[in-house]
Amino acid sequence: MSDVYAEPTTAAGPTGPASLARYTTLRLGGPAGRLEVATDADEIVRKVREAEAREEAVLVLAGGSNVVIGDQGFPGTVVLVRSRGFQVVAEEGDTVTVRVAAGEPWDDLVAATVERGWSGLECLSGIPGSAGATPIQNVGAYGQEVAETIVAVEAYDRTHHEVVRIAAADCGFAYRGSVFKYSDRWVVLSVDFRLTRSPLSGPVRYAELARALGVEVGDRVPLADARSTVRRLRAGKGMVLDADDPDTWSVGSFFTNPVLEREAYELLRERAADLGEPPHWPGAGDVVKVSAAWLIDKAGFGKGYAGPEGVAISRKHTLALTNRSGVASTAALVALAREIRDGVHARLGVPLHPEPVLINCTI
Ligand SMILES: Cc1cc2nc3c(=O)[nH]c(=O)nc-3n(C[C@H](O)[C@H](O)[C@H](O)COP(=O)(O)OP(=O)(O)OC[C@H]3O[C@@H](n4cnc5c(N)ncnc54)[C@H](O)[C@@H]3O)c2cc1C
Repeated sequence: MSDVYAEPTTAAGPTGPASLARYTTLRLGGPAGRLEVATDADEIVRKVREAEAREEAVLVLAGGSNVVIGDQGFPGTVVLVRSRGFQVVAEEGDTVTVRVAAGEPWDDLVAATVERGWSGLECLSGIPGSAGATPIQNVGAYGQEVAETIVAVEAYDRTHHEVVRIAAADCGFAYRGSVFKYSDRWVVLSVDFRLTRSPLSGPVRYAELARALGVEVGDRVPLADARSTVRRLRAGKGMVLDADDPDTWSVGSFFTNPVLEREAYELLRERAADLGEPPHWPGAGDVVKVSAAWLIDKAGFGKGYAGPEGVAISRKHTLALTNRSGVASTAALVALAREIRDGVHARLGVPLHPEPVLINCTI
């Protein structure tokens, strides 16, 4: 099957047709009980219903860029979401609402919106995976997140066996979370984004991006400049998939940035007194978001730190755990994740939580 999501297999890696390692950016995961490809919304619903009728567990998989699948694989039916395309469904004033099929490759969509002069997704350039997965963890980067532009999600509700439209307000969007994450209830079929007709980006919010663009935080820049600069910054950190670069064979950030109550943050400052001020940002309410990359680095796990079987922290980004050898097991990756989590907790007292969805494995 030729498609933009499937990763090439390595010579020594798992090669069976149902090996899920072929469909994940980590190149990890054992076999699927049954593998089904669905190319439009009706087919996605049908394949899910058929699996339910067979009383099999269902795993919906798209780009495989935010999952860690155990070495035992997934014994039920895996539905690969491969629907494509987008269309304008509403135009009002200077806004345009675009309905995007769940399987549309995310970065293709971002490129198309930038080309058309639709502002709102440009800072999310270069993120792998599908449009339909972006609501799952409220995908975000460089000061933008999809919660700002999603107006509705169309999903198959597996509890009530019907296709529903869920307004953004009911999606429970939070930092790397939503009602969809860790829930088997909804299968996203399409997503509506409301974008603004403008040659300029939204106000640049991320200091590193502003610096790279040579502007102040709050300034707007041509959409194409925002996109190319974000892609360049991401590529420097191994955060754009590259089949030839094992530093990108990851799920992006493996841990979320911890969100701490003020008291817990003060404790961290005390424990880290010899390490300098922990980089942090204000969260919603009286909470503080702390850099997971900094914690990991200061706990002794620097870029390139290696675990068993050739798994390692990316040489370009402390937060990315990679299957550098291309032939490691999920058990090895999870062992490295555990070592880091426990090491950070022992040294700095802060619990780390994984960002990807773990399937038939645990850390
Ligand atoms: C190099 C790299 C960089 C990354 N950078 C970022 C980043 O900057 N910001 C960020 O937020 N994320 C980032 N990620 C994580 C990932 O790309 C996103 O979370 C992306 O949205 C996942 O899309 P996917 O199609 O690959 O989802 P998958 O990995 O296929 O699935 C992820 C989860 O969503 C569920 N799912 C997928 N599609 C559907 C659907 N249609 N309906 C219901 N459930 C579904 C799956 O069951 C699974 O639980 C990065 C990953 C990599 C590898």
